[in-house]
Amino acid sequence: MTEKVHITGLSRDELAELAESFGEPRYRATQVFKAVHERRLRSFDEITDLPKKFRAKLEEAADISRLTVESKYVSTDGTRRYLMKTADNYPVETVYIPSENRDTICFSSQSGCPLKCDFCLTAKLGLLRNLTAGEIVEQVIIVLNDVYGVGEETPHGTNLVGMGAGEPFLNFENLINALKIMSDEDGLFIVPNRVTVSTAGIVPRIYDLANLVERPHLAISLSAPNDEMRDKLMPINKKWDIKEVMTAAKEFEASLRRGERFTFEYVMLGGVNDRDEDALELARLIERYQLKRVKINLIPHNGAEQLDYSTSTEERVERFKKLLESRGVDAYVRQPRGRDIYAACGQLAAKAA
Ligand code: SF4
Repeated sequence: MTEKVHITGLSRDELAELAESFGEPRYRATQVFKAVHERRLRSFDEITDLPKKFRAKLEEAADISRLTVESKYVSTDGTRRYLMKTADNYPVETVYIPSENRDTICFSSQSGCPLKCDFCLTAKLGLLRNLTAGEIVEQVIIVLNDVYGVGEETPHGTNLVGMGAGEPFLNFENLINALKIMSDEDGLFIVPNRVTVSTAGIVPRIYDLANLVERPHLAISLSAPNDEMRDKLMPINKKWDIKEVMTAAKEFEASLRRGERFTFEYVMLGGVNDRDEDALELARLIERYQLKRVKINLIPHNGAEQLDYSTSTEERVERFKKLLESRGVDAYVRQPRGRDIYAACGQLAAKAA
């Protein structure tokens, strides 16, 4: 028996080829694409505008859904965390973060993660496997259906962040394919401008991203102002050190479009990387590379009992921010969301709340 294809991860051209292989005209592909992505239907039975025979053939050859929701946790702040499973039983976590004027869905690109960032719970899982393009897209469909109902539009659009479990740039091709599918105006229509992808510093892919015309915004997790500290916190630094990350960031900056910026993320760990001298060293680093279109997102660490780190105090975070600003570096504090349900940054580890 040949394996079924996951239709949610097919591009329009691939869908058209599938339709043609069943002796159907290519326009059927648009009908299917709209049903899966725009109307967000979850079974072929529901696509009643397709001929019955075609539906039966699709049913035989393809799946719409490859993910199931195992549990859902809702935070007191409205954040929702979904614990899903792939068809072959690997955990996938997705987070929905509501806010007044936009919704954000944080998707995972891998089940587990091969990188060993010392402050991250996902790291404890190791890499289980890369997610397919279809599994990335399906996370978003499942969340939108849960929050708004099948096929209903979001009141103010959706932003996506690729900051869930996994290192997106180690699954680059599937990531880019998923983003292409999600940007289609006959589908979810989430354009790249509404998407931010975060990397721990997979340098070659930063250059690749710089060369893409249609691309998401870039965030690079730095989290330390020097190699000695970063080697400990983010061992990927031993492969691509700060100099290489900064050089790539500089090149990426040169490719930015008008009005666009990129981000350095800085996870703040109490007493570790949140001292005055760390802020000043970080500001000097940015100055040395003459980065002008970068902002720093300070992310207070979301402590967890399995990790040896504590959260920086609010005063510390504020002071760090002020020091950066006093050196002309734009800095923002990311308010933690969903901490009570283990939905916050670095907390995704297939854990029940
Ligand atoms: S912080 Fe991101 S890249 Fe690092 S281990 Fe966790 S999931 Fe992987």
